[in-house]
Amino acid sequence: MTAAYKICLLPGDGIGPEIIAEGVKVLDALGAKYNVTFEYTEALLGGAAIDVTGTALPQETLDVANASDAVLLAAVGGPKWDTTDPEKPRPEQGLLGIRKALGLYTNLRPVRIFNALAGASTLKPEVIDGVDLVIVRELTGGLYFGRRERFYDEEGAGVNGACGQRAYDTLEYREYEIERIARQAFDAARKRRSKVTSVDKANVLETSRMWREIIHRVHDADYRDVELEDLLVDNTAMQLINRPADFDVVVTENMFGDILSDEAAQITGSLGMLASASLGDGTALYEPSHGSAPDIAGQGIANPLAQILSVEMMLRYSFGMNDAADDINRAVTAVLDEGWRTGDIKGPDTAADHVVGTAQMGDLVVARL
Ligand code: NAD
Repeated sequence: MTAAYKICLLPGDGIGPEIIAEGVKVLDALGAKYNVTFEYTEALLGGAAIDVTGTALPQETLDVANASDAVLLAAVGGPKWDTTDPEKPRPEQGLLGIRKALGLYTNLRPVRIFNALAGASTLKPEVIDGVDLVIVRELTGGLYFGRRERFYDEEGAGVNGACGQRAYDTLEYREYEIERIARQAFDAARKRRSKVTSVDKANVLETSRMWREIIHRVHDADYRDVELEDLLVDNTAMQLINRPADFDVVVTENMFGDILSDEAAQITGSLGMLASASLGDGTALYEPSHGSAPDIAGQGIANPLAQILSVEMMLRYSFGMNDAADDINRAVTAVLDEGWRTGDIKGPDTAADHVVGTAQMGDLVVARL
């Protein structure tokens, strides 16, 4: 019997529709090869959803996502919807909302070096040699989901005013939130090089002191075979560019993970190469690590490889199609080894006739599956 999987497609904004089309191309090719049917339902998220429905995450989108076996997202956002007015809808609300609604508490961002692109990194070759790490970011708690408020009062006033603005955001964690992300990190480490670096700011923040305590408790009880080190977030920011190859699994809270994963992404030299998976206990969501790149939207030049590599993660984590996932990895490696590049990853040695657009890059990968 042919297996069939339902996939919810969320093209979003900017380059989103262009790159997601290449992800679908790859899925279709692998579906034919492995006799698996992928059924797609497209839904609105982010700015595209605001334009049509007035909200960044319409209920209909959530219904489609919940009824699917996996969600493939491209990216949301753009200057058209930028606003500082707290009353106005913003595209990121769609992202945060769908992560929360699907219970996606873990974000996995692998960072690995494709040999052909080693020259694209700003770091020295001997520093990036062998980099293969994954950032495990807590995704539904912490500062991005805490209570927040902006208001006027006398204490907020500057020297000249009787009344001024004040604002606060709160960073809060519950024990079970840290415990389950700890388990995801230790489990991931066991499938890799069995090392976890837990990142916090325990010298200042109470949430971090609790984080550290719980990570160690889980480790000592069930994961003594995994090496565990603690690192303060500011030091981690330095060590990631100083000795990136030493890291295996890095686990951290939501905002630290947001910042560190972008820094780690830069080690490779291109955001356009990095995929991510957001996992919970139900439907998982896969997306590139980059944003909607409004500066190059609609030109057909965006790099679709991060989107295609997010399809690789989907096949592995949601459908257990490891052979098909390996096919994608091999195909992308082959295309790069042959010298094909999109504009963002081209270097001084790239042959002019090997610089390709979004659709052509997708075709090159498909041809090598
Ligand atoms: P960005 O990642 O969109 O772009 C940063 C730079 O990288 C730009 O120069 C862009 O052209 C380039 N770039 C990114 N992806 C590329 C690709 N696939 N191929 C070639 N070049 C690529 O980040 P930004 O400019 O800070 O944000 C733009 C918009 O995206 C904002 O509205 C932001 O809120 C949103 N955003 C969305 C997500 C998401 O959907 N997950 C993540 C980050 C930012």
